[in-house]
Amino acid sequence: MLTPEKIQNVLKKDCINLRFHARGGQGGVTASNLCVEAFLGYGICQPRFGAERMGSPTESYVRLSLDKDLIRTNEQVYNPQFVAILDETVMWEVCVTEGLPKGGWLIINTDMGQEEIQELINRKDLNIATLPATRIAMDVLGRNITNTIILGALIRISHLFTLEQLNEAIRKRFKGTIVDKNIEAIKEGYEATCVYDVGVDVDFDAEAKLPWTQVDPFLPGYKDLDKAGVWYTDVNVIRYGSHQVKTGSWGEYDIIWDKEKCTDCAQCWYICPDFAIKREKGDDGLWHMVGVDQFHCKSCLNCVNICPVDALSKNMKQKPGSCALYL
Ligand code: SF4
Ligand code: SF4
Repeated sequence: MLTPEKIQNVLKKDCINLRFHARGGQGGVTASNLCVEAFLGYGICQPRFGAERMGSPTESYVRLSLDKDLIRTNEQVYNPQFVAILDETVMWEVCVTEGLPKGGWLIINTDMGQEEIQELINRKDLNIATLPATRIAMDVLGRNITNTIILGALIRISHLFTLEQLNEAIRKRFKGTIVDKNIEAIKEGYEATCVYDVGVDVDFDAEAKLPWTQVDPFLPGYKDLDKAGVWYTDVNVIRYGSHQVKTGSWGEYDIIWDKEKCTDCAQCWYICPDFAIKREKGDDGLWHMVGVDQFHCKSCLNCVNICPVDALSKNMKQKPGSCALYL
């Protein structure tokens, strides 16, 4: 288990590295900024974005040290000792354990338990901390922004800074009621954190740049295609079309359809930005609503809000935290 003394000793002669995994719009970059602002020492952070689209996976990196010469590099972090995952669904798309040494810490916004996570990441040598940050965010902030809440869990296991130091950084960065709400949410995150310590100390000397490798995305060039576009194209031509992306995993709610109440007015079908309202042609030759495509529904709630007869409702996907410590 890490202690404040041990962390201070490492920081005097070395860097401590963190990596944040999130989705565009969830505030992963702000989380890394706040780490640097809350830390009493020297720090640097930088983001890495993929496709410019809300909801696509993002990464941001933080280096912290008490020696300013050690944090001058601008390159990304290849061997973090702490990895924080603001949205558990990125774990199915990105190798979140890459470069994480034995005894490293994974901090995950999830209601999954230790064994389920170990099976998913195929490693048992990592320490894990979990918290139901989405539930806390929806309860306290009213939005699924988990970036500050995940820092409560980081404080609990890393001792890199204190709750009060983070609160001070929050006061400097935000204004108005959002300050108190975030401070409350961070405290809840801190208290709701489940800690699964496997008894292996993180190896702070394990940092080494990984060899560069060529990535083959298996995508044909435009000259190889007999038709343009990737939406609903033949999977034998393009193996990875956007329709195959499980955008449904980005949302925090399941949308429930009540067939008995539905009057088939089609307002939800018109307003859905993701074509996630399913309709089928009936024997009468007309199209009728038959349900919600959970694979693509991002739970924007447009359909719930527009339905005139309350035939659509929402149900929070994330269950309460997985450990008994969460009250
Ligand atoms: S919640 Fe949004 S994405 Fe999902 S079915 Fe309703 S309108 Fe479409
Ligand atoms: S808006 Fe409501 S009533 Fe109209 S089709 Fe959709 S679910 Fe049915």
